[in-house]
Amino acid sequence: MEKNNIFEKIISRQIKSDIIFQDKRVTAFKDIRPKYPVHILIVPNTKIVSSNEINENNKYILTDIFFTAINIAKKMGIHNSGYRLILNCNNHGRQEIPHLHVHLIGGELLKNI
Ligand code: 5GP
Repeated sequence: MEKNNIFEKIISRQIKSDIIFQDKRVTAFKDIRPKYPVHILIVPNTKIVSSNEINENNKYILTDIFFTAINIAKKMGIHNSGYRLILNCNNHGRQEIPHLHVHLIGGELLKNI
């Protein structure tokens, strides 16, 4: 496992990315390969590899992540048309980057899952 994965470098601004929101606990930035007109990633600033690492001590980060995603959807004006939040976990979930993240996608009619 990479010690300093790509999302950690984005959070600490070691590499440039399109950060659209950051506070003490979370960072939101545009996906480098957007699959939808709106495709934002929301991540915890501290390293949490996947949702399997959520426990009693860090569980409230999920509220921060989802609350941030919803606020961004509102700011981007896609809240009324609608959007989807996705959390991929491990191999079968097709999680590519080993740093917990939620995808905010929207801006067009999404396929049924
Ligand atoms: P996963 O499949 O792990 O849920 O999604 C990882 C996402 O991270 C993918 O949609 C991919 O396009 C995005 N991604 C991978 N590398 C980078 C990067 O260097 N910068 C940004 N902004 N997004 C990335």
